[in-house]
Amino acid sequence: MRIPGLILGFCALITTTIMAQNGDQILDGIGETSLIARYTFKSDANDWSRNNLHADITGKDYHFVVDSLFGNVLSFAGKAETHITIPGEAVTGEESLSISAWVYPRSAGQGQVFFDFGKNSQSHLFVELKQNGEQSSTVAQLHTAAKSYKLSSEALALNTWHHLALVIDLPSKSLKMYINGKLSEQIQNVELSLSDLFDLETGKENKLLIGTSLLAGNSPLEAAIHDFRLYRIPLNEWQIGWIHAVALNKEESVVRRRRRTEPNRELPVFPTTTPQLYNAFLTAVPDIKVETPVGQLPRLPRLVKGIYSNGIEGPDVKVIWPAPEDNSQVLSPGTYEVTGSVAGTDLQPKALVTVRTPEKQKAPERKLEAFGLDQVSLNMDCHHDKTKFIENRDKFFNGLAATNPDNFLYMFRNAFGQPQPEGAEPMGVWDSQQTKLRGHATGHYMTALAQAYISITYDEALKAKFAQKIDYMVNTLYELAQLSGNPQNPGEAFVADPCQVPPAAGKAGYDSDLSEEGIRTDYWNWGKGFISAYPPDQFILLEQGATYGGSNAQVWAPYYTLHKILVGLMDIYELSGNDKALDIVKGMGDWVYARLSKLPEETLISMWNRYIAGEFGGMNEAMARLYRITGEKSYLETARLFDNVRLFYGDAEHSNGLAKNVDRLRSLHANQHIPQIMGALEIYRDSQAPEYFRIADNFWNMVTGDYMYSIGGVAGARNPNNAECFTAQPSTLYENGFAAGGQNETCATYNMLKLTAELFMFNQRAELMDYYERGLYNHILASVAEHSPANTYHVPLRPGSVKQFGNPHMNGFTCCNGTALESSTKLQNSIYFKSIDNKTLYVNLFVPSSLHWKERKITITQNTAYPREDKTSLTIEGKGKFDLQVRVPHWANKGFFVKINGKEIKVDAKPGTYLSLKRKWEKGDVLELHMPFSFYLEPVMDQQNIASLFYGPVLLAAQEEEARTDWRKINLDARDISKSITGDPAKLEFMVDGVLFKPFYNTYGRHSVYLDVNLK
Ligand SMILES: [Zn+2]
Repeated sequence: MRIPGLILGFCALITTTIMAQNGDQILDGIGETSLIARYTFKSDANDWSRNNLHADITGKDYHFVVDSLFGNVLSFAGKAETHITIPGEAVTGEESLSISAWVYPRSAGQGQVFFDFGKNSQSHLFVELKQNGEQSSTVAQLHTAAKSYKLSSEALALNTWHHLALVIDLPSKSLKMYINGKLSEQIQNVELSLSDLFDLETGKENKLLIGTSLLAGNSPLEAAIHDFRLYRIPLNEWQIGWIHAVALNKEESVVRRRRRTEPNRELPVFPTTTPQLYNAFLTAVPDIKVETPVGQLPRLPRLVKGIYSNGIEGPDVKVIWPAPEDNSQVLSPGTYEVTGSVAGTDLQPKALVTVRTPEKQKAPERKLEAFGLDQVSLNMDCHHDKTKFIENRDKFFNGLAATNPDNFLYMFRNAFGQPQPEGAEPMGVWDSQQTKLRGHATGHYMTALAQAYISITYDEALKAKFAQKIDYMVNTLYELAQLSGNPQNPGEAFVADPCQVPPAAGKAGYDSDLSEEGIRTDYWNWGKGFISAYPPDQFILLEQGATYGGSNAQVWAPYYTLHKILVGLMDIYELSGNDKALDIVKGMGDWVYARLSKLPEETLISMWNRYIAGEFGGMNEAMARLYRITGEKSYLETARLFDNVRLFYGDAEHSNGLAKNVDRLRSLHANQHIPQIMGALEIYRDSQAPEYFRIADNFWNMVTGDYMYSIGGVAGARNPNNAECFTAQPSTLYENGFAAGGQNETCATYNMLKLTAELFMFNQRAELMDYYERGLYNHILASVAEHSPANTYHVPLRPGSVKQFGNPHMNGFTCCNGTALESSTKLQNSIYFKSIDNKTLYVNLFVPSSLHWKERKITITQNTAYPREDKTSLTIEGKGKFDLQVRVPHWANKGFFVKINGKEIKVDAKPGTYLSLKRKWEKGDVLELHMPFSFYLEPVMDQQNIASLFYGPVLLAAQEEEARTDWRKINLDARDISKSITGDPAKLEFMVDGVLFKPFYNTYGRHSVYLDVNLK
């Protein structure tokens, strides 16, 4: 099965390589995240996209022929029934659909059907190439049980190529047909949902046929076809024109950035006179002064206090500062001035920067630790209701308990040529037989099992189930790893040295063939310690320069997959104490070190900069962690071999990059890079090399300041067009963000939370855990389906969007389905932290829970219904002197009130800080915290009237009836927006301008998270 709407999009590392990726990641200017499937029909009916939606050809009346325009094409001879079947799941879960294809009709016989898609002969969409005597036409017809629509054009001339595109655009309720790049006919006000046409749940009912009809009586197609594509977005006229022109070589298929002067084609454009929220009342933004050490770009404040007119109490102002692409301004001591801008105004705040010779920079120390997952447990809320945390956890625990580990081991056994036990079934999506990423889900699965196992303190039977699965997984993988580089039978030849792995028998070179018949299984030649769900060839091909792709000379991302497997095993080792798990990791760590340590630096740089192929997840983190666990220096050395030099240091001379606070994130694939930054922080932890800390700290600051959506997600560029990339420029979310193919890849937020918590261990800024709360409640909790553990890939935030959930049965994983297993089995892990010396306790989150602080023999029970109420209480059992550090959230600007044992105590609690409550705590002490929630708006940085509405930590979503193209408009009182909002805080349901708002984490239908806000 394939998860709807889910495509992995790894994006390039740097701008220049993006420009060179013609037709790959951004095919004809349209991000691959929008593409469902593509059939080039050059020599087979395989899906060229990475979704593995390979089609079948039925019948014999076809040939692949050479065509003067397009090279090889598929030709139907028109003599006998022959057709192509695209897998029905291709359209599952989709909202809109565009079909783009080339056709070369050779005869005008009656009843030739180009393609016919639908669930049956009453509900379908088809294109007929027909001729009725003198009246000839090409007709697209769409029929559902309730409606019929017809689009016609002149007949397509015979014996020449035509480009045909059909667009079902649900948000704008239109149906359009384009011929040769031009709109031919359209129908507006179409009453239709794709579910009228297709089975959107399983896709089993769908018939997606090319060259034949769902109705009886058609004639065999006599035509050639070429480059048949399905898109999940409604393509616009410009995009279709571009596809047409590129195919005819009239335009170059390079990634094309939208120029500032070009119209914004997809989102409403506002005149500069549109009042921009509070900025409409802004009269001045005072100049500021900052200092920075030589070499490092200054960290300019995101928000500056504004001066407002009319007695308006506006928020601090988002100033958009220029973000240079190098550090030439700060190479020597002195001063200079930076001029910023404020969206929707002509204010020009200034920052006077003093560049000074750095004193010896102190590198921060890691002072905190998380508690073990077995030391914190999630509780029912104070009304004895299940919390969202418990609901989501239980969906995943129950789902995991029902899994068969043999399915997760299937491709490993397949790679090692071992028999499958009874009942073992291959998984789908990215772990299927021929998917070169197979094995990745197994890594996430092992992490999830380990976390679930250690978390369970309340159900011995369930715990035992997880223990059993863990042992079985590790034992099987251990046995397989032992096979590598050892003789199959005593006395037979073998290759123990990882650097001497020969090509498979009978082959001249390495190849990545994973088909049943083509996969090599000669594990005795693979070098000692090797473990993966595919043979070593992908790793070796990558060293030899292989690119990403489907051919046997190409690879997907071998180290990305390996990272998941190694982390899964290390988690098992650390959480359940299974030594064999660590042995497997050491064996493969040695294998990787043996190979990578022999490569010249330029080869490494080339590998890690190679589009998709070189994506390595957090291999640097995994290897540094292995060093921390084992003390073996070669692993730390290996970790550093994964340095992303361009991103971290700008160039081989380490001139700038993130280490110097230079933004190198523009247009990068978000989630490709976040784990690398996590790796930098782990290397810092293990090596104390200060530049690695700066890389992580600067990265976090840039991403959350300049690229973040209100749910805490950070990806989703419209420019460059890819749902998984950072925008082309910082602080341009409106201009360049909100990709049509979706935004907010969920695994990116999983990794951001991990990075955030780890940064907090070094630097206890409340800002970090404020972000953590935002991402946890408004993205991670919001990413799970209502009644199953199915979960989101992208979380779209355009007007009237809807979340799509995949993988309910845990049998077909994408990256995000993988990290969802991890997120939902460790939901309690950041509520509390402690100092390493056990003298300080941090209360970061207000979640019903119990903490067992074993070193201090103290138990703390947090009792609350937060965020359905704005207070919490902590009861302390045990006693002793310690400093209780409580987060005062950034949004708590209506006060933060503290009672100890019922008595109010005076505190100076500033929003966005931690409040220290140092005392000798006694058994039975009760600490009550009250932080009144209020409503506030979070505008998009470069289009302030487009804003999200929050209530305390909770992002509120307008509940929408249908898809829409414009932002929902609401009016709010400029002096006090709460005057315009009614509702029930205990339910977190509110009405604004007649529309119901609910927490985004409780929203399963259509939503508007961003609104067009007018302050009156
Ligand atoms: Zn993902």
